Amino acid sequence: MDLKYSPEELVFQDELRDFLRSELPAEIAEKVRMGRDLDKDDMERWHAILNARGWLAQNWPKAFGGAEWSAVQRHIYDVEAAAHNAPRIVPFGLSMLGPVLQKFGSKEQQDHWLPRILDGTDWWCQGYSEPGAGSDLASLKCKAERDGDHYVVNGQKTWTTLGQHANMIFCLVRTDASVKQQEGISFLLIDMETPGVEVRPIILLDGCHEVNEVWFTDVKVPVSNLVGEENKGWTYAKYLLTHERTGLGGVGASQAALAAVKRLARAENHNGKPLLQNPHFAARVAQVEIDMLAMATSNLRIVSQAAAGGAPGLEASMLKVKGSILRQEINDLARRAAGPYAMPFASEAVEGANDVIPDPNQAGPVAAQYFNNRKLSIFGGSNEIQRGIIAKVTMSGGA
Ligand SMILES: Cc1cc2nc3c(=O)[nH]c(=O)nc-3n(C[C@H](O)[C@H](O)[C@H](O)COP(=O)(O)OP(=O)(O)OC[C@H]3O[C@@H](n4cnc5c(N)ncnc54)[C@H](O)[C@@H]3O)c2cc1C
Repeated sequence: MDLKYSPEELVFQDELRDFLRSELPAEIAEKVRMGRDLDKDDMERWHAILNARGWLAQNWPKAFGGAEWSAVQRHIYDVEAAAHNAPRIVPFGLSMLGPVLQKFGSKEQQDHWLPRILDGTDWWCQGYSEPGAGSDLASLKCKAERDGDHYVVNGQKTWTTLGQHANMIFCLVRTDASVKQQEGISFLLIDMETPGVEVRPIILLDGCHEVNEVWFTDVKVPVSNLVGEENKGWTYAKYLLTHERTGLGGVGASQAALAAVKRLARAENHNGKPLLQNPHFAARVAQVEIDMLAMATSNLRIVSQAAAGGAPGLEASMLKVKGSILRQEINDLARRAAGPYAMPFASEAVEGANDVIPDPNQAGPVAAQYFNNRKLSIFGGSNEIQRGIIAKVTMSGGA
């Protein structure tokens, strides 16, 4: 195991830093730094800049127009992008559907859909979860019935992230209710402009519109939009989830968030001294820093294994649990550092209106971030589910 960057990786890191300094629009970086909501244009603009450099589809093979970065390069990008306040890359087309189509899609599907993910023609969202089918995903009920050269889809998806921006949704649908749950699921690509598709907003604890319900009433979907074979969708769904979980540790984002807490605690006074010098606060910051160093090292270890051809399994679950706990701890520290300034988590502070709360440290979005990041221990497979996976593998001697 080699935890140091190679000379080539150090050159890559420099190249990346130059790129981020020169190409990342300052107004977008400022929104990210302030924890403000990014609109669709911001996200599409950043995607287009990365795509022009050939760095948007970082994990895709070159044959499909990807950058084909190694796991270490992707790790370097995560850390540098977060340090420069770059927006996160919207994962649904690039990290989730793309790899599924490359492995299981037909040549026609690959030729049609993959370039449209890269150039931003399509914005995809993920239609997996339903009310009553989250952790127990295989119990999903949204059904697709074959009618000639179409499927007719009826049912509901929920928690659909950024579905309000999407024109396409990849869905798990039930195509056979008479067999074992996992064996009657198919993977379908649905145009959200088809009659019968309705998107309804869900407003989260932070007051923001990030997730949605998506309803389907007699929605006609061409059979050519079925990925792979009918009733084999569970295999494709699981393959997608391994891609979703990799990177959920969020080392780069946590490092950037902790740096922001320290800035806040240096500027904020407590009994005549910077808060960062308060022994209780400093001890919590130190504990988070120690945990983060340990996580960053584990992350590098896993990345290094992946570079040597190993597949992260159990480790991805461990990173997801630890990463989300750490991030929530950092959000809590920020909330405490901002003190009363964090109290009114006015949506204006998040959306960037002029009348933000007049505090010297611009702590307006702190509470919103605190509330929003409760999601980290729920989505991508909740922490309880991940702990279950870790326990099962460990007890069976597979660790
Ligand atoms: C902000 C946000 C964005 C999301 N975006 C998307 C999206 O874009 N697309 C999509 O398809 N889904 C999305 N999800 C859904 C997400 O994947 C589910 O919320 C998650 O899988 C948990 O399912 P659930 O909410 O139905 O909770 P449940 O499965 O009902 O779980 C409730 C509680 O019980 C615990 N629990 C359940 N089963 C077990 C078990 N076997 N052992 C121990 N504990 C258990 C869970 O950990 C949880 O604490 C999103 C969720 C959130 C919060």
